[in-house]
Amino acid sequence: MKQTTLPIGIDLGTTNSAIAIWRNGQVELIPNSLGELLTPSVVSIDENNTILVGQAAKSRMVTRPRESVSAFKRFLGTDKVFCLSTQTFKASELCAIVLKSLKADAEAYLDETIKDVVISVPAYFSDQQRKEVRLAAEIAGLNAVRLINEPTAACLAYSLHEGQVRRFLVLDLGGGTFDVTVVEYQDSFIEVRASTGDNYLGGEDFSDDLVTAVLERLHKEACDVSLKDLAAIRSVVEQAKINRVGPSITITLPSPFVETLEFSSDQLQALWSKTLSRMTQPLSQALADARLKPELIDDLIFVGGATRLREVQQVATRLLGRFGKCELDPDLVVACGAAVQAACRLRDEAVEELILTDVCPYSLGIEANCGSQRGIFSPIIERNTIIPVSREERYYAIDKQQVDISIYQGERFWARENIFIDKLQVAVPKNKAGEEAVDVRFSYDINGLLEVDVTVVSTGEVQQKVIDRSPSGMTPEELAESCARLAKLKFHPRDAQPNVALIEKLHQLYVEKLSWEREWLQECIINFSNALEYWSDAEIEIARKEIELRLKELGFS
Ligand code: ADP
Ligand code: MG
Repeated sequence: MKQTTLPIGIDLGTTNSAIAIWRNGQVELIPNSLGELLTPSVVSIDENNTILVGQAAKSRMVTRPRESVSAFKRFLGTDKVFCLSTQTFKASELCAIVLKSLKADAEAYLDETIKDVVISVPAYFSDQQRKEVRLAAEIAGLNAVRLINEPTAACLAYSLHEGQVRRFLVLDLGGGTFDVTVVEYQDSFIEVRASTGDNYLGGEDFSDDLVTAVLERLHKEACDVSLKDLAAIRSVVEQAKINRVGPSITITLPSPFVETLEFSSDQLQALWSKTLSRMTQPLSQALADARLKPELIDDLIFVGGATRLREVQQVATRLLGRFGKCELDPDLVVACGAAVQAACRLRDEAVEELILTDVCPYSLGIEANCGSQRGIFSPIIERNTIIPVSREERYYAIDKQQVDISIYQGERFWARENIFIDKLQVAVPKNKAGEEAVDVRFSYDINGLLEVDVTVVSTGEVQQKVIDRSPSGMTPEELAESCARLAKLKFHPRDAQPNVALIEKLHQLYVEKLSWEREWLQECIINFSNALEYWSDAEIEIARKEIELRLKELGFS
């Protein structure tokens, strides 16, 4: 297969991922092996040590919670290790498995190999987290030519769609991340004015709140319920939340809890009030950082599956005094925007005139002393400065022949409470205390490369350090080891994936349902498993389609 020249964008989501290409002047979303545009970012491992990704793995969250894992993107940048059966994985490796599956989908769709991609990340992701996304791409055999902030990607998708809009506020509430971004679009220029958020707020929290409320009604604590039962409760709660039609939510609990619970609109408002209130601060902060009053926002854009919750939309509408837009599918708009960005890089004619600037999402500075106060954080590039940027500050060396420059990122007063990035030492000539000065210049570019130049003022001597944000964080040996480990993992052949997904779904439903439904599911599992063993591929496909249709009719999928 030859390598594609088409621009490719990937939304590697906490909950769901998607991949899109730019072809014939427009975005095309790529379906996975089940024909779906969204692939759950879930990984599971079966009895034969074969890896499952996407819907099949999501079903196994219910039947095999110990061998399945979701929401691992939240743990990028940490040392957390996930145990799946007998194997262990880092968050970056699990992300690589999802990326690998998206890569296979795109390659099957295009009949070409893919390599260069644009991947979206939450605007609030730290440097280390971004580094690990690049690393995950590398492990998956991809080259992340650019990372784009998710809300920026959403704006790119919308601006092509809309033409004339001037100021957007993008509210992106996904499964586990919340991003608020103010973006200005003018004369083909897209500029991020402010970007803030909460790395630990998302649709999952709304499901968790509902699960807690369900357990309360059952007079149980989470620790009284087995992991499997808890996963089954969570699954029906999540489904009920997503399928809600009216103001209330009805939850039919799985066995052994034979009960149907109803939560009224007022009860939902009450049980979600704390989670909803966590949206307020980032929303106000984004407006303050962009120095904008709500009335100066032209459009409020909803991105992320959880913005479909009416309570979420109400909070934003109340704070901003306007209704939000969601004409483009909030789940897919980020992948579309990433593909648009990929096309921009390759200068496709239809997007040529779009120029993108971005902001540094966190303050970058050094540790300094001020009077008797030691270890204060002195920002050089402030949060939400438009990049690329270069800024310089002068510092005085107090009775020392050597100045230690410790570089941090964050927003806290004390340097030690921020994230340490790197340090360098500069020798200064002997001089009187407080008189020798150094100029520290930070230059930060659009790919997240920070260059630090320290100039000793009296001698003009310069010391430079480029802080590498390319996929390091792992030594080349560790990277090679991860690649080798992943290469050894077994995956189901693509053709077999719809069958595997159906079997896993039937097992999941078996856990969740009772009486005649359970009997019918049992029969389906037995018949379909037999079919898989003895029938031809064509016959299996007919049987699968029949069962899938029946599941739809019963409202099970
Ligand atoms: P991510 O960006 O984290 O991958 P998505 O944008 O795919 O996430 O959103 C996933 C979240 O959206 C999940 O928590 C899911 O429960 C929630 N969600 C999806 N559809 C709906 C819906 N119709 N109503 C409420 N929440 C929804
Ligand atoms: Mg998302």
